[in-house]
Amino acid sequence: MIQLTDVTLTFPDGDGRITAVDRARLLVPAGTVAALTGPSGSGKSSVLAVAAGLIRPDSGSVEVAGVDVAALSPKAATDFRRTRLGIVFQQSNLLPSLTATEQLCALHALGGRTSRASRTATRDRAAELLAAVGLADQADKRPHQLSGGQRQRVNIARALMNEPDALVVDEPTSALDHERGSAIIDLILELTATSGAATLLVTHDRTHLDRMDQVLVMQDGRLTAGSAELARQV
Ligand code: ADP
Ligand code: MG
Repeated sequence: MIQLTDVTLTFPDGDGRITAVDRARLLVPAGTVAALTGPSGSGKSSVLAVAAGLIRPDSGSVEVAGVDVAALSPKAATDFRRTRLGIVFQQSNLLPSLTATEQLCALHALGGRTSRASRTATRDRAAELLAAVGLADQADKRPHQLSGGQRQRVNIARALMNEPDALVVDEPTSALDHERGSAIIDLILELTATSGAATLLVTHDRTHLDRMDQVLVMQDGRLTAGSAELARQV
């Protein structure tokens, strides 16, 4: 579950401050996808950053899977993201020199010495996830050998490696054509249901909104529970 209660976030702006998020409330139950939509600059990415513990809000509470994220120290927040959260951004930030399998296993290798059994378990999990995103036969490919859509699939698989309680996804289809974008949205809906993660998905593409469990519309930092219909009017 992801729950934001009365979250306000401001940034310095010249002599004053700009309010990026204005008393936002939202609740995303486990195993469901909430779409967050609205004009550019309305505060969508700021909401994700707060939910992911990347930025601490000025006020309000942020609870993800029972953890009060806004109260964590920077180190604890990093730890929380590594162990409990999956994050997918617009640009696939894959490492150029690693194969798809290695992209998924890399984080787990960073923890220092790992046993052979745990390395095998990690590779098994990577293989399972690459199959789940339709890339079983691309496991040994490096990013430059993959299409944009395939790279985004690797990103999604990587975000699921640690069996996250919550998934935050920022405009995953913006660099893809409609058909590939649609397939990515299908994948996110399917993997959210099977993994039981609570997914907060920022999307510009309104054609997908009818399939979401919940649609939230953002405007000037304000968040309103919406509908696909309302989102089309903003
Ligand atoms: P969206 O994702 O909907 O396009 P953002 O959350 O990126 O919107 O931005 C919301 C507002 O906050 C915008 O006015 C933006 O300029 C401002 N903003 C976002 N990040 C920062 C930052 N790091 N420093 C200053 N202002 C920021
Ligand atoms: Mg944004």
